[in-house]
Amino acid sequence: MAMDRVALFGGAGFIGSHLTRRLLDEGYFLTVIDVDAEKIADLLPHDRIDFRELDIRDDNDDTVERIVETSDVVFDLIAYANPKQYVDMPLEVVHLNYDQNLRLVENCVETDTRLIQFSTSEVYGKMGHRQGDDKVFSEDDSDLIMGPVENHRWIYATAKQLLERMVHAHGIENGLDWTVIRPFNFIGREMDYLIEEPDAGTPRVFASFMSALLYDHPMYLVDGGENRRSFTHISDAVSAMVYILEGPERYNREVVNIGTPGNETSMHDFAYLMRDVYEDLSSDGEVPPIETVPGEEFYGEGYEDCERRIPEVTKLTDAGWEPQYDLRETLEEAMSYYVDMYERERAASLD
Ligand code: UDP
Repeated sequence: MAMDRVALFGGAGFIGSHLTRRLLDEGYFLTVIDVDAEKIADLLPHDRIDFRELDIRDDNDDTVERIVETSDVVFDLIAYANPKQYVDMPLEVVHLNYDQNLRLVENCVETDTRLIQFSTSEVYGKMGHRQGDDKVFSEDDSDLIMGPVENHRWIYATAKQLLERMVHAHGIENGLDWTVIRPFNFIGREMDYLIEEPDAGTPRVFASFMSALLYDHPMYLVDGGENRRSFTHISDAVSAMVYILEGPERYNREVVNIGTPGNETSMHDFAYLMRDVYEDLSSDGEVPPIETVPGEEFYGEGYEDCERRIPEVTKLTDAGWEPQYDLRETLEEAMSYYVDMYERERAASLD
């Protein structure tokens, strides 16, 4: 198994870079395709990584197809996956996340290559509004409900949902071997990017709050921070991906949630917990204020939110997977990386 060649499309992004590191440790041969190598640059060159700097939208000479053909398994992690992007550039989100990914799916069909396709927990859409305390999102039972068209945030989830349905249909009609993964708010080192000023970008919530803590600007709670998410440490998430990769029979033609149901929290409590952990970790211990802001002001017109997302993960726990990090431990591990980096840089600049 460990001799397999695995292609990681998007293998130098946040999730991809962690997966690349883990699969190297497991002994795999990798072809990593990404628009740049930044998050895995320290690994290169490597005798078990064939790195290809490529934007699949610019592939005019069938490079992608040749990579797929020479791989035993393809992970497709290529996506715009940030709510601000869904609001700002809905057409490009569909172009990359649906049109271009579908080409990759078709390459897998044509070359008879197993596909592990990343989707999103966002496909469950607004079902969280109906989710009671004891109710979790189940891959094969939950309905998928999107908001109105004019709230174009849902264009991302809609594109991903159709991609899932196309993957499924290729399994039925063309014998494609596939697994679809629905990630639930993975967090960890190297997630998104940090912003030194509040208006310098809109990363996802962990990176947004981390930036506010380091660079001392307010932590903004969208719509009061009542919405809830279940956060998963990236290392637990990657372990689940290895179970899936190494369980081709168990996971063939299955949709699989990856998440940590016990780590559910409101954004309000998340902000306060991050401040608390930061006070313990940083040498100055000073924390910024927490302020609330309307969603449409923060993201722009067309924004609407998912209230709640808790995954059912029995497909993984039945195979022996268990998350190792609770929410506080997740934050301690991820935040200490940023605090150390920041304090090292600050010390160097004072030298
Ligand atoms: N959010 C927030 N402040 C921020 C960034 C995000 O309150 O600075 C909220 C956002 O409105 C959502 C939740 O945090 O309710 C998670 O947002 P994220 O962008 O991380 O991704 P999502 O889970 O919505 O895909």
